[in-house]
Amino acid sequence: MSPLTNAQPVKASVHPMVEAIDVRKSFGHLEVLKGIDLTVHKGEVVCLLGPSGSGKSTFLRCINHLERMTAGRILVDGKLIGYHERGDALHEMTGRELAIQRRDIGMVFQRFNLFAHQDVLTNICQAPILNRGRSREQALARARELLRMVDLEGKDTAFPSQLSGGQQQRVAIARALAMDPKLMLFDEPTSALDPELVGEVLGVMRKLAEGGMTMLVVTHEMAFARDVADRVIFMDQGVVVEQGPTREVLDNPRSERTRAFLRRMH
Ligand code: ADP
Ligand code: MG
Repeated sequence: MSPLTNAQPVKASVHPMVEAIDVRKSFGHLEVLKGIDLTVHKGEVVCLLGPSGSGKSTFLRCINHLERMTAGRILVDGKLIGYHERGDALHEMTGRELAIQRRDIGMVFQRFNLFAHQDVLTNICQAPILNRGRSREQALARARELLRMVDLEGKDTAFPSQLSGGQQQRVAIARALAMDPKLMLFDEPTSALDPELVGEVLGVMRKLAEGGMTMLVVTHEMAFARDVADRVIFMDQGVVVEQGPTREVLDNPRSERTRAFLRRMH
């Protein structure tokens, strides 16, 4: 065999960043996810749209196993999330193993969830030092770099309560990025913000997208989806109703449910 045959690590480059296969989730008798199949490729920005209650947050939480699925499987960067597979059986990972898996998946929520009693720099530095083995100096240098990236240079010693919602959310993004994640999940990151603060957070997300980050974004910001997303996925009542390239879905939705939703968004 020619040595060139194996020159490219083909297997490593072909699998998607996120692969969800028939993901189901019930809370008691309420089936919230009814078999979700979706893929997010490396470097792709995918917006997940859908009415309230359709299961978007639940699905996002399944991706890092904050929510335990009822059935199905999710792979991130080719690795099964939450379980070890032995023969035909799945065994749930330990808390420590889950924590290691989650290091690669950044998540930003609607509520900023910063540590209220810590200043901005500590909020950003703590996890990389504790969970990524970074030295204090490394973590501080990276945190300052990230604060510049989210346009918050000089806010190192501010406490969350001294910041606007938009600033807090940008700190939350910097904090997630400080772990050097492979994938960023956003769950309505601007829904809790005053309208005049939405743009500054979307601006940071756009920058991140342009830098090549793989992103799965639940949002109702249609202009952002239109400009930044490579693909959109429309979910309703626990199923993927429609998905495709952004323009195709937004300008020419095939399903009546997608059409009705998009009409309401205008
Ligand atoms: P979305 O993010 O699209 O608004 P969610 O994933 O938050 O939807 O919720 C989907 C459905 O699951 C809703 O009916 C919600 O009430 C229900 N649900 C979400 N979390 C729980 C929970 N922990 N226990 C019971 N029901 C839940
Ligand atoms: Mg939600």
